[in-house]
Amino acid sequence: MKTILVDLDRCNGCFNCQLACKDEHCGNDWRPIAAPQPTTGQFWCRVDQRERGRVPVVKVAYTPVFCGMCDDAPCLAAATDGAAYRREDGLVVIDPEKARGQRAIAEACPLGLVYWNEELETPQKCTGCAHLLDDGWTEPRCVDACATGALRYVDAEEAAAELAAAEPADELADLGSHVRYLHKPRRFVAGAVADRSVNEVVIGARVTVRDEGGAVAAELATDEFGDFSYEGLAEARYRVSIEADGYVPVELEADCTEHDVVFDDVLVVRADV
Ligand code: SF4
Ligand code: SF4
Ligand code: SF4
Repeated sequence: MKTILVDLDRCNGCFNCQLACKDEHCGNDWRPIAAPQPTTGQFWCRVDQRERGRVPVVKVAYTPVFCGMCDDAPCLAAATDGAAYRREDGLVVIDPEKARGQRAIAEACPLGLVYWNEELETPQKCTGCAHLLDDGWTEPRCVDACATGALRYVDAEEAAAELAAAEPADELADLGSHVRYLHKPRRFVAGAVADRSVNEVVIGARVTVRDEGGAVAAELATDEFGDFSYEGLAEARYRVSIEADGYVPVELEADCTEHDVVFDDVLVVRADV
């Protein structure tokens, strides 16, 4: 089976994949694989964007989301009379005619990737561009449109090691989703260290991030702007210690369980005053 492997480090949020999917399916009738997608309201390829951190350290995480063609697909289970089926190549397809009136299919996906077409009264979702693959294409439109290499259409056996290191979308984790993500964002801590008495940032301050058990999760140093930032933490609580020659050490708590942590300016005082 082939599937989409997403490298989030390479995704710049250009939305080309989302637009390509629209271009392929809006107003185009690919029955029996898919009826035309309405121009509004449906995103078979959906680039989610999420702001992280807070001023002055704000990052945006982009995540392109596709149907995972799940092994244990609730949309498939919700369909009756053969309205959804799995092809030999593993793609889960909803038959636009047989599925008429079956709203339960549209409500079954935990990621909300099946949409209800009010006009046609039928559920619709990503087809894996099955009509193109059947026509000799080697990859779906969304993958073809990605210029950064964030999307790759890989053979599950040939890319087994990469796929094993990648993760599914959280909502599909227990369903055997085949779409997998490399480099999912981890929690980050960030801040700036300054000496208010001289209105200067502190360069080269040693910043150590420890977990609740005291194990070192990261060691870094403030840069020429007095800033530090580290991404790669788990959803957990940490202690951040800041030491600089001639200054009183500072200990901070970073609760990364729910979100990233950006400290207000960390003001250090000289040890000799
Ligand atoms: S086309 Fe590629 S880089 Fe652009 S949003 Fe989609 S996955 Fe990201
Ligand atoms: S991702 Fe959603 S729509 Fe796709 S197969 Fe899984 S449950 Fe069905
Ligand atoms: S595989 Fe095809 S239908 Fe599915 S998201 Fe990509 S372009 Fe859209």
